[in-house]
Amino acid sequence: MTRVAIIGGGISGLSAAFELEERRRAGADVEYVLYESSARLGGVLRTEHIDGCVVEAGPDSFITEKPWAADLCRELGLGDELIGSNDADRETYILVRGRLIEMPDGLMFMVPTKILPTGFSSLFSWKTKLRMTQELFHPPGEVGHDESVANFVERHYGSEMVDRLADPLLSGVYGGEAASLSVRAVLPRFAEMERKYGSLGRAMLAARKKMSAGLRRVAPPLFTSLKNGMQHLAETVVSRLTPSSLLTEAPVQAIQREAGGWVVSAGLQSDQFDAVIIALPAAAAAHVLRMASPELAAELAAIDYSSSITVGLGYGADVRQTLPPGFGFLVPRSEGKRLLAATFVHNKFPHRAPEDRALLRSFFAGVNAENVWPLSDDQIVEIVRSELQQIIGLRAEPLFARVYKWKSAMAQYGVGHLERLERIERLRQQLPDLALAGNAYRGIGVPDCVRSGRDAAKQILGTSE
Ligand SMILES: Cc1cc2nc3c(=O)[nH]c(=O)nc-3n(C[C@H](O)[C@H](O)[C@H](O)COP(=O)(O)OP(=O)(O)OC[C@H]3O[C@@H](n4cnc5c(N)ncnc54)[C@H](O)[C@@H]3O)c2cc1C
Repeated sequence: MTRVAIIGGGISGLSAAFELEERRRAGADVEYVLYESSARLGGVLRTEHIDGCVVEAGPDSFITEKPWAADLCRELGLGDELIGSNDADRETYILVRGRLIEMPDGLMFMVPTKILPTGFSSLFSWKTKLRMTQELFHPPGEVGHDESVANFVERHYGSEMVDRLADPLLSGVYGGEAASLSVRAVLPRFAEMERKYGSLGRAMLAARKKMSAGLRRVAPPLFTSLKNGMQHLAETVVSRLTPSSLLTEAPVQAIQREAGGWVVSAGLQSDQFDAVIIALPAAAAAHVLRMASPELAAELAAIDYSSSITVGLGYGADVRQTLPPGFGFLVPRSEGKRLLAATFVHNKFPHRAPEDRALLRSFFAGVNAENVWPLSDDQIVEIVRSELQQIIGLRAEPLFARVYKWKSAMAQYGVGHLERLERIERLRQQLPDLALAGNAYRGIGVPDCVRSGRDAAKQILGTSE
């Protein structure tokens, strides 16, 4: 019998437990115990149902292109619960000098693939539009080292593109700054396009051509979520696990190698295992590993995390009628606001709000989240309301308001992240029967976390598929 400890009950740890549970049911001689420090399982996957609205405290969806979360949902029998974003109403706005400007059609992240909409858009100055044309002649080649996303984008399109698009788009995903995120870790496809084609514009056009030469199919929605919210995924995984294997309010202090196995210490209890899966944010993983491998702990501790705050505001039908169409807006740093973004949730997904309700989700990240952190929920709601009034003229009193704070929950893949991962992997291999999962490594999104958890379980069982 192989006994496995899983440390961390977010979606990464739960996915690892699900994989082990499936193997156990299929006859594998394995048993697991999952340790979660808080009273609830699911980590940042948390949903509240308020006044008929589905209010997401943490992630509101996942990228459809990455299949692992949707695959897990289907395996759990949640296939009918999956919903796609309303991409027909996908307009997203960027705040430029106090005015919301629609992102032009055909922009793939920051790469223009349609000339006319970008050419006529007031999102970019003529200087940037000229840079976009010149970019098409960017010669292929590889920069021999990692660099920040800001550097990379600036080399291709200039600093306005960094400020107005790259930085707010990435802050929305990582809560960090384009100036510190690694292009190779965060935008590997773009780094590869540059190597192969030089111009990102030409690379995108070539990819589009290839796609349209292949089978024509209806494009899947950009984002996928669950009718009843993201917490439903975590709850359904939990319902499939062995209840006696799940320990909540059980923070692990340390793990140590002993007698050919691992001893896991949580509170006053210690237990023996053959293998351990650490599915924690990097700083917590570093703490747990500090005695077993100070070197590995130091590498993990060096992975930065940023904090974020989401604020859900519910309104009546009158507000719903007056809001702009589309998914919401992003606020570049140069606009001097504290809000990073707001989503018109009732437009982005079906089933999120009744017809007579508008649901807005506002987002603070990084330095701005830290700055408002000490304030009371009421004060934070006031800041959101004041900025929403300035940006979209929204003065109405919300029917409900909820503030959710997430301390150091989003990993920041800084310049050199991939090299750090190689060092981490070398050090991990020196520790037998230890696997790492979570958002610190190769993807911060829910699908990547699901994959990392399941892969960690397979690694421990010595199976690769
Ligand atoms: C506000 C927000 C919005 C996001 N939006 C999206 C989105 O829209 N789409 C998307 O794909 N991704 C999104 N993400 C990212 C994604 O949700 C996370 O990266 C992912 O859910 C992390 O899962 P995890 O299990 O690795 O970590 P977590 O959810 O952080 O879980 C780790 C768990 O470990 C526990 N723990 C900590 N220390 C110990 C210890 N010593 N012993 C035992 N347990 C411990 C914690 O209590 C926690 O439950 C968002 C993240 C945040 C914070």
